[in-house]
Amino acid sequence: RAKDEGGGEHCEYEPSLHANAEEKRQLEFSLRSALEKNEMALHYQPVVDAHTEEVVSFEALIRWNSSEHGFVSPAKFIPLAEDTRLIVPIGTWVMQQACNEAARHWPSDVKVNINVSPEQLLEPEFASTVVRALSHSGLDPKRLEIEVTESIFLRDASVARKALEQCIALGCSVALDDFGTGYSSLGYLRKLNFTTIKVDRSFVQGAAQQSRESLAIIRAVVAMAQSLDMTTTAEGVENADEAIMVRDLGCTKIQGYHFGRPMSAEDARQVFARRAVDLKRKSA
Ligand code: C2E
Ligand code: MG
Ligand code: MG
Ligand code: MG
Repeated sequence: RAKDEGGGEHCEYEPSLHANAEEKRQLEFSLRSALEKNEMALHYQPVVDAHTEEVVSFEALIRWNSSEHGFVSPAKFIPLAEDTRLIVPIGTWVMQQACNEAARHWPSDVKVNINVSPEQLLEPEFASTVVRALSHSGLDPKRLEIEVTESIFLRDASVARKALEQCIALGCSVALDDFGTGYSSLGYLRKLNFTTIKVDRSFVQGAAQQSRESLAIIRAVVAMAQSLDMTTTAEGVENADEAIMVRDLGCTKIQGYHFGRPMSAEDARQVFARRAVDLKRKSA
């Protein structure tokens, strides 16, 4: 916020504020036409079973290669898309695209995880967007897991919850993403029948550095998830030591660079092609 006191004093924050606002305005302008210009793509990151290390799911992660700005990180444009409600058409596109990919090209025991913003859930059309994506793609609803963060409980919590309950009624599952980073209240876990708790990467890193607090928190989350019949996914596992650690702590699934970076749709298909070859070799 610019200083409005101090009389004739120069405000040192102003130039960067202007630059920021101008940059944002330009990004927003480009974002409005990004879908029709075909600049959006989905990448997919594997989620593996902690014990078998088999791929059980892929998380769809959006990528934007803008003709004006080059590659823009989702950390930058998703908040902008949320502020401008552009996340609604973008989210609809993500839902359809990811369901198509999973239904057409992946084995039927592999799920797809899709991130959904609060703004999408508050849209009355949300559930019908999901129904449409499922019916157009032919994807079994059991293969769709919707990822939300605790922030959905901050605003119109009952609207968001009803939208997710409609998805659960269809057979979809819901994961609580980035658990532990937000406004974590354990009470949230009672408000919805989550299937999975995704333990944020910051705890995985902390535990790898022998932080007692991080270890204790992962242990507690795992114990709580087990008694609530939920699974846990450790996010951001970058090396074998971290993988062993979160497995020993009892996490059910693992995601992170150690098992695979987000990759193009084409590369994700290749993962299964290789898996089929491996299986043939084993049985031969
Ligand atoms: P997220 O859902 O928590 O996704 C995980 C993020 O961690 C991804 O960043 C992923 O690339 C990154 N990551 C995965 N493994 C590792 C690791 O081992 N080390 C490190 N350092 N990072 C790892 P990304 O792709 O930049 O996405 C950032 C966030 O943007 C996502 O966080 C999600 O909240 C949001 N997002 C991405 N795609 C969508 C989308 O289609 N719709 C909505 N609403 N949000 C999305
Ligand atoms: Mg996610
Ligand atoms: Mg996450
Ligand atoms: Mg995250």
